[in-house]
Amino acid sequence: MLNFMEKNDQKDDLAEDSIIENEEFGYSKIEIFHPEDTAKLAYHYGEILKILGEDTDREGIRKTPLRVGKAIQFLTHGYSLDPMKILTSAKFREDYKQMVLVKDIELYSLCEHHMIPFYGKAHVGYIPDKYITGLSKIARVVDAFSRRLQVQERLTTQIRDCIQEALDPLGVAVVIEAHHMCMQMRGIQKQNSVTTTSAFTGAFLNQIQTREEFISLIASKLH
Ligand SMILES: [Zn+2]
Repeated sequence: MLNFMEKNDQKDDLAEDSIIENEEFGYSKIEIFHPEDTAKLAYHYGEILKILGEDTDREGIRKTPLRVGKAIQFLTHGYSLDPMKILTSAKFREDYKQMVLVKDIELYSLCEHHMIPFYGKAHVGYIPDKYITGLSKIARVVDAFSRRLQVQERLTTQIRDCIQEALDPLGVAVVIEAHHMCMQMRGIQKQNSVTTTSAFTGAFLNQIQTREEFISLIASKLH
């Protein structure tokens, strides 16, 4: 859903801009690699590579510090996004009071303890009370919070709280299922195990039936 493009092919130009845009969903943002940050990151990643025993003059690795410096800025671009603004920018008055469900939202994040990826899916539901938002905005909010250093538990509650605060709905439900590379690669977790977290407000918290409906809808392969 995100397009990550480079304006030109001169990969080693520090001043190069990059554009992140999502115009098909009515939201666009130009993300610029800050040249100063890129230069600093490249310098420090170069030092890290030397500490690890790499020859930073080796052809394959010569531009790696610069590439990593840019990559890490993209992987943490959520810091420059305002999730509340994303929701309120497309907040509409509507009398619909049934559950709205956006399931299987792709999610990529970095664990804040090791800066190693965790990735999976988010399922978000809410029951509007006067206000709805664009469906794509829900996915954008997931992205804005996940493209930071995170723990899955906080990510789950941040998404919930943001939607609750922005739309004041009758209830919000968030379930995240994720694989944690930092556990898998270090041999702490079995390869295919999934960590599931959930956070609810309002009707999803108080009414077992509503919560069960949400759970069965996200488990359904037909949706
Ligand atoms: Zn970790």
